[in-house]
Amino acid sequence: MQITPTTLDSLVSLTKRRGFVFQTSSIYGGLANSYDYGPLGVELLRNIKNLWWQTFIHQREDMVGLDSQILLHPKTWVASGHTTAFNDPLVEDLVTQKRYRADHLIEEWQEKNNQTSETKPEEMNVAGMGSYIEKHKIPSPDGNPVSPPKVFNLLFETSIGAVSGEKSVVYLRGETAQGIFTNFTNIKNSTRIQLPFGVGQIGKSFRNEVTTGQFVFRTLEFEQAEIEYFFDPETEDWQKLFEDWKQAMWTFVTKTLGISEENLRWRRHTDTERSHYSKDTYDLDYKFPFGWKELWGVAYRTNYDLTQHQTHSGESLEAADAENTRRFIPHVIEPAVGINRLFMMVLAEHYWEDSEKSRTVLRLPAQLAPYTVAVFPLARNKPELIAAAKAIYKQLVMEVPTTWDDRSNIGKRYLYQDEAGTPYCVTVDYQTLEDNTVTIRNRDTTEQIRIASDQILKYLKKNS
Ligand code: ATP
Repeated sequence: MQITPTTLDSLVSLTKRRGFVFQTSSIYGGLANSYDYGPLGVELLRNIKNLWWQTFIHQREDMVGLDSQILLHPKTWVASGHTTAFNDPLVEDLVTQKRYRADHLIEEWQEKNNQTSETKPEEMNVAGMGSYIEKHKIPSPDGNPVSPPKVFNLLFETSIGAVSGEKSVVYLRGETAQGIFTNFTNIKNSTRIQLPFGVGQIGKSFRNEVTTGQFVFRTLEFEQAEIEYFFDPETEDWQKLFEDWKQAMWTFVTKTLGISEENLRWRRHTDTERSHYSKDTYDLDYKFPFGWKELWGVAYRTNYDLTQHQTHSGESLEAADAENTRRFIPHVIEPAVGINRLFMMVLAEHYWEDSEKSRTVLRLPAQLAPYTVAVFPLARNKPELIAAAKAIYKQLVMEVPTTWDDRSNIGKRYLYQDEAGTPYCVTVDYQTLEDNTVTIRNRDTTEQIRIASDQILKYLKKNS
């Protein structure tokens, strides 16, 4: 439950303070739209990825995984249409020469001027955005006039080969999906899986984004978790599969990640916005600190991608029906999400300023928290306490993510763990030395109870 409306500033500040997120290359002044994940952030990211993988790959008999390369054969991106159509409409500030996304500029202007009932930028083509900007004299964020929008390709180009003049152009992948399509036959022939089946992959993607200031929501380099779910359109009802995937996404976000339903909504793509080959596309939007934005997209892409790769490669990407009497190019439904957007949503949702107890708490579900439990000796200058606490720490750390702290006083340690999202703190005190009991403190209620030290694990497993 989002108890405090989280502001972007408070989130950025907490994540830096506690080592979730750092600005990339901050000692050099930072790199736009780029962030590093610190000691706690890397744990949260891994937990999200592991839960996604468990849910969508391990716990489904109709799904398998893949890890394809970031650099693919450059023809891949010609076939997929990315070299020509993976574009954003950009305008240039005529004074500062800074570039902005035309659709984002219009969206912000509409929100600021209460023009939200006007035609949305998603429903405009590039020329339409140009006319709209001109008609309303929409300025840049610095207040200057802007140029008409021009399309700008988002793919990052690099090259293979050391000798100049003999280098060949390759692209850092703009999405992970294309590695799935080009491996379709390999996966079909090497596994026992039969249609309908899906392939999931988590990996880095790269996009030359110009819109800044959205923290880890929009970065140049990010991790995508994409699924291509292949099926025979003659035997499967695509609308049913589509609904099933929407439901699976919703359940993952609400149940596994603990997000409240009032902060989520489905938004159907308009005809102008939807790719020409897609029959239906929905975005699952989350109410981020800067408004409703796309978290996770799901699209019915027909057999466009496999057909394109078959044409461009000359290799058959067909499958046979169950009776082996008909050959066809499978259709796909694609649920695609950025892990970093899930990460930001989870932090925004569970951020809580507890004014009563003057503390900030990340009320992360235990399965997401970087640490399940922290172990403290009451005082750091008493070897008997340290030894007893270390013994408990060593036992717990083999079973659940556990951290250790013996710096400063207990109160400060609790405040630190509240901000780190650690659900439980165990304190070893003088009574422990007498009767082997410890205190265990609950992050959300701050209540403490005394339990036997050999019952801690059972307690954690029962309560998380
Ligand atoms: P947007 O409209 O916000 O630019 P998109 O529609 O281009 O996103 P898709 O191409 O559908 O995004 O990519 C699938 C998913 O990948 C998105 O739902 C989002 O979660 C994630 N994603 C896309 N671009 C970025 C980015 N620059 N940084 C982080 N995540 C991203």
